[in-house]
Amino acid sequence: MSEHHTQSIHVAGEWRTAASGATRDILDPADATTLAVVAEGGAEDADAAIAAAREAFDHGQGEWPTTPVAERAALLRRVADLLQRDRESLGLLESRDAGKTVEEGRVDVDCVSDAFRYFADLVVHESGGRVVDAGDPDVHSVVVHEPVGVCALITPWNYPLLQASWKIAPALAAGNTFVVKPSEITPLTTIALMRLLTEAGLPAGVANLVTGPGATVGARMAEHPDVDLVSFTGGLVSGTKVMRAAADGVKKVALELGGKNPNVVFADACTTPEAFDTAVDQALNAAFIHSGQVCSAGSRLIVEESLRERFVAELARRADLIRLGRGTEPGVECGPLVSAQQLARTEEYVASALAEGAVLRAGGQRPTGPGLDDGWFYRPTVLDHCDRTMRVVREEVFGPVLTVETFRTEDEAVALANDTEYGLAGGVWSADAGRARRVARRMRHGTVWINDFHPYLPQAEWGGFGKSGIGRELGPAGLAEYRESKHVYQNLAPRPVRWFKG
Ligand code: NAD
Repeated sequence: MSEHHTQSIHVAGEWRTAASGATRDILDPADATTLAVVAEGGAEDADAAIAAAREAFDHGQGEWPTTPVAERAALLRRVADLLQRDRESLGLLESRDAGKTVEEGRVDVDCVSDAFRYFADLVVHESGGRVVDAGDPDVHSVVVHEPVGVCALITPWNYPLLQASWKIAPALAAGNTFVVKPSEITPLTTIALMRLLTEAGLPAGVANLVTGPGATVGARMAEHPDVDLVSFTGGLVSGTKVMRAAADGVKKVALELGGKNPNVVFADACTTPEAFDTAVDQALNAAFIHSGQVCSAGSRLIVEESLRERFVAELARRADLIRLGRGTEPGVECGPLVSAQQLARTEEYVASALAEGAVLRAGGQRPTGPGLDDGWFYRPTVLDHCDRTMRVVREEVFGPVLTVETFRTEDEAVALANDTEYGLAGGVWSADAGRARRVARRMRHGTVWINDFHPYLPQAEWGGFGKSGIGRELGPAGLAEYRESKHVYQNLAPRPVRWFKG
């Protein structure tokens, strides 16, 4: 039963259809049926939304940019409460739209509430400005923060609610207005979030939403002269286009792009049966949660040569046991891939890896069975004997595909971990705390987990080295992205400077 949200475009406080009247079917990845119908916005809808955000920033009646910080923080906390009130329905909606399990959907809602609360606290804590010693008792010098202006927020399909919130919460905390464009294939929870922002009392025009494709709506947002900042999460190819489009306007640009993330396992991490079980279990989780459609997925297992056979055999055995199915069904551990395109891409990478000499240890095919034939499912796949010459090792698959490489020395492990043009995240497993920290410090990645994989904290910056992006989300830097610093220098005893003598 599909839902109709043909008025899914939100501009200046009103819900609208696309100017063209076009709509898009949102498909259920578990069976390819229509889940919902939404407005398919275009460039003219982006223009209208940007105009509304501009108006609200420059002349808005609600005066969001100058609303006291405590009131902005209070609104963010109300949003967090409303998210928790709607936790079940939002978790379910995310599960149906993005294909993840309901449990993952619920966890996403919790993480999103935490992010709203974190930025509420942070903006109050950091509202004071910084007094600078000008070296002159007659000068009062202070650095204050101002909102950047109109923000264009563009998000991907794997964590739709979460990625939108990591941008919306700090943007609002800092006093900006915005237009958000969710991925055209998973817009449903972003639409729901907009309703919650209105319910929480956000003035009209501060938050605007356009559902529609990247090539039209997203591209227009990135190039529009009235946009001051573009924050983009998505793939490398689209990210470089966004950066180019934003260049002429010298906009602030933040990019959260892909990853090809190493999970380095030393043999000394697996000397007891319990430790071995933990490292294998977490390697499985690193690679296959949400069917590997995670920017920080630990998709490259880099394991010490002496441990390889035992580790990979157990990993493959457990990968074969992962229960696939519709994310809303009890007991299901992995849902489908998000689209037919994503499935085809995964199949193509596995075929190319096998042609290049990789050895298949698990998966490598679509599953069969009741409820699995119509959706975009793919078995968790382990490819052994991989190396850097293979595309599957260098490029982001964004599917349930784990490659295995081996090392003999610590230096080799570090070299392999860093042998990627990306640098988003990675893990290192060792019982030797000194070694683990040494390796972590040498890894050129934005997040490194020691004896763990995947957790993140709203208080800690998230983002990438190299082609994984520019800037950071979360943490104090995640708020700083949405602020301009202004130095106000006040001379308390002005006198002529007499530089010019005439
Ligand atoms: P994508 O690049 O195809 O799309 C992302 C968003 O950009 C969508 O909303 C899309 O409509 C829009 N877009 C596409 N072309 C555009 C253009 N020319 N101008 C402006 N907007 C455009 O990415 P995806 O397939 O939706 O998501 C998967 C990618 O996202 C993966 O590469 C993944 O690693 C990355 N990702 C990164 C993070 C992170 O935090 N670093 C988090 C999640 C996903």
